[in-house]
Amino acid sequence: MSRLDHLMKFTALGVFAVFIYLLDLSELMNAIANFIFFCCVAFIMILSVQTGYVRYRSDEKIRRQYIPKPDNTPKTELVFSDGKKKAVVEGRSRYHANELFREIGLAGQAELSQKCVAVVGLGNSGAYAAELLARAGIGHIRLIDSEAVGTYDMIGSRFFRETDLEKPRAEALEDFLKKANSRILVRGHMARLNEGNRALLDSDLVMDFTMDGKSGLGAYCRMEKIPLLSMSLSSSGGHVMAAGERGACLECQLETFEEGAGRPSMTISCMGAALITSLALKVLLKKKVDFDILEFDSARLEFDKSVVRQRPGCEVCGND
Ligand SMILES: [Zn+2]
Repeated sequence: MSRLDHLMKFTALGVFAVFIYLLDLSELMNAIANFIFFCCVAFIMILSVQTGYVRYRSDEKIRRQYIPKPDNTPKTELVFSDGKKKAVVEGRSRYHANELFREIGLAGQAELSQKCVAVVGLGNSGAYAAELLARAGIGHIRLIDSEAVGTYDMIGSRFFRETDLEKPRAEALEDFLKKANSRILVRGHMARLNEGNRALLDSDLVMDFTMDGKSGLGAYCRMEKIPLLSMSLSSSGGHVMAAGERGACLECQLETFEEGAGRPSMTISCMGAALITSLALKVLLKKKVDFDILEFDSARLEFDKSVVRQRPGCEVCGND
């Protein structure tokens, strides 16, 4: 029987003793009821103190077990914008949350700092994902986009300012990310991918946020054995696709659903960016991914994972 059961039992007995006392049957019965009542109060107090103490110890144990303090917590150096003032403080690593996260940990975080990710397409979702990658400490981020910052970007993205108008988006985002994390390498390339510059994709992972031209990208990544994550968004949700060396290629995956209509809102762009970046960290750390497509619907808040069959005769993956 648990402590809580004992507590309830003694409380009921105490209440019953009070009831007998109130009936005033005889002096003997009143004395017995009194005795039982005070015994119950004493037991209840002892059990309450014990229960609280045990819970405290149990919480402490869980805290120690699941939230260990990294032994190698480094010093953090703060450099202010004028470049003169400096302060060195003992503190948590900037990747503290990742280091505590079981799926990443200290070893995983160190591994991420050695990785290179190419982000293609820097609209809302691409720019958000690039920021998440930078703050997660990916060592090298290559930004590829063919457009300049326009007035639409002023409304839809927090990464671009009026002073960035007409600047290549890749360059403006490069500036932003360098200020967000100066310890990583970020390079922006204003380019439309073609046969001549596809080497820009050579990396540990390609993340695609383009509206078109996905198939050419998919074929190249498959041929070069580069993992590819691609995203397709609509006004109500989207699809995150994962294509690797084996299984269905991006082309086959794209044929399994009809692309939704409408421009994605900021909420959907952020949702998509968070999902695809979580998946990117898994892929970079070579964790198992047990699906090809992750579909999400923001209106119904529903998620669905599916595995896609390779299309017979597919030029990209059909001969595998
Ligand atoms: Zn295919």
